[in-house]
Amino acid sequence: MREDWHERFAETPDCLKSASRRQTVVRVLDIEIGGNEFITMAGPCSVETEFQLMATANHVRRGGARILRGGAFKPRSSPYAFQGHGLEGLKMLARAREVSGLAIVTEVMSETYVPMVAEYADILQIGTRNMENYALLEAAARSGRPVLLKRGMAATIADWLRSAQVVLDNGNPNVILCERGIRTFETATRNTFDVSAIALLKQISHLPVIADPSHAAGHSDLVPALARIAIAAGADGLLVEVHPNPDKAWSDGGQSLDFDGFDEMMADLEPWLALRERGLSRREAGGLRPMEATG
Ligand code: PEP
Ligand code: MN
Repeated sequence: MREDWHERFAETPDCLKSASRRQTVVRVLDIEIGGNEFITMAGPCSVETEFQLMATANHVRRGGARILRGGAFKPRSSPYAFQGHGLEGLKMLARAREVSGLAIVTEVMSETYVPMVAEYADILQIGTRNMENYALLEAAARSGRPVLLKRGMAATIADWLRSAQVVLDNGNPNVILCERGIRTFETATRNTFDVSAIALLKQISHLPVIADPSHAAGHSDLVPALARIAIAAGADGLLVEVHPNPDKAWSDGGQSLDFDGFDEMMADLEPWLALRERGLSRREAGGLRPMEATG
């Protein structure tokens, strides 16, 4: 890692790669995030019904996903939109884990609910609107569950790493960074997918980095291309929205893939994942750990 990056991100030293800490691997169930396997997390934006969740869980598992996503507590742009099923949604997620064997990632929005969400979820998601909610980050860290930290929609990489550092400082080494797009002057896409943040983080940080092409794009037809780009940039995995009937979704239908769309994307990603594997073997043969920057 170049010396000037050390200086630039000196405020968050524990997030940075060092000789003794080249890559963090976050383990949930039998899954390793940040290891050699590219991990797909997929599922609906919101947990709606038992049928919707189970059908999606079974489908994405067959398609290669290892982790089921789904919101039980929903931060919505409109206060009048569906806010999630809360505890009932968490119970549905736990049943979906039992049936499918997938691990569960779900958002927690307030520190009051951290113990409840941590009881049901394998990974706690901190959403873009809460990235700098340090009280929530501290509570999530102390729950002992891995934390999937989404980038604030107006956060710089330094702001984002400061939030990761808060989790690390509270005794939890299991942080997964998730690039989900940032606000720019562009409005054709919901956000602007900051692929350079992924490339940069993979050079400077030992923390796993995943990409959320769904919230970045805001349109399902752009999701496969952004997923491909995320792999090329060095991402360790994906978080993607999938729904059995996106037109009828209670939230984020426009950016959700239907089952066929998910299958097509996964098939389309195969050659890119093969290239990624070749890169990993080459780096390992050169004595470097997975995804360590060579250059
Ligand atoms: C979500 O994952 O459904 C979500 C609300 O994400 P973000 O916080 O990135 O908007
Ligand atoms: Mn969503």
